[in-house]
Amino acid sequence: MDAKKPIRVTVWNEYLDEQKRKDITDVYPEGLHKTIADFLNRAGGIEAKTSLIGDPEQGLSGEILDATDVLIWWGHVHHGKVTDQAAARVADQVRRGMGIIFLHSAHRAKPFTALLGTSGRISWREAEERCRVWTADPAHPIAAGVPDQFLLDREEMYSEPFGVPEPESTVFISWFQGGNVLRSGLTFRREYGKIFYFQPGHETYPSYHHETVQRIMINAARWAAPLVRVADRDCPNDKESLERIDV
Ligand code: ZN
Repeated sequence: MDAKKPIRVTVWNEYLDEQKRKDITDVYPEGLHKTIADFLNRAGGIEAKTSLIGDPEQGLSGEILDATDVLIWWGHVHHGKVTDQAAARVADQVRRGMGIIFLHSAHRAKPFTALLGTSGRISWREAEERCRVWTADPAHPIAAGVPDQFLLDREEMYSEPFGVPEPESTVFISWFQGGNVLRSGLTFRREYGKIFYFQPGHETYPSYHHETVQRIMINAARWAAPLVRVADRDCPNDKESLERIDV
């Protein structure tokens, strides 16, 4: 990656119900994707665009993904509408180096379970409860400038056990008012692609307006940007050896 070139982020969203529900438009008038893209574009060094499930090829065409360094995925109740082909394209691009950030209920998105190979199961509760996010790995680049802990006045409760493989790093752990806890900020690597899962972001709560949540997502976009992006190729037969093989 050329350090001078901005990181190209695509913020993908379902956006099928949100524009019809006042409890959501009150918090995110133009959709969560627009709020997220706006603060990323203000961060410097990031060029964020948006795409939606209603766009051609579900906003996940080869052309869009080829021009994306980091894909941010927000999906909630329409995971099943994402075609297997679109999900496979996303997973393939991650394996070849594209970074991906799965937000909130994306723990059940098709590319998430395809890449991690597990169910992504959690338990949940919508009860307007407080959520305290703890920085478990302050030395991780995603935690740069993030306090030891911060409070979200309202979040949807997600609880352990969380059906994911052992992560590369547990960057954040969240405590919920009702007593539950979740490993809420996790990193993984699949082949050349970096993956970050981050739990805050229920659609009727203002988490993406929270300065520290924004800081974490800006850090994550920078961290997940590819160091290499390998070509789409099969397994070539390397017939011509570099050195002579004496048999
Ligand atoms: Zn939610």
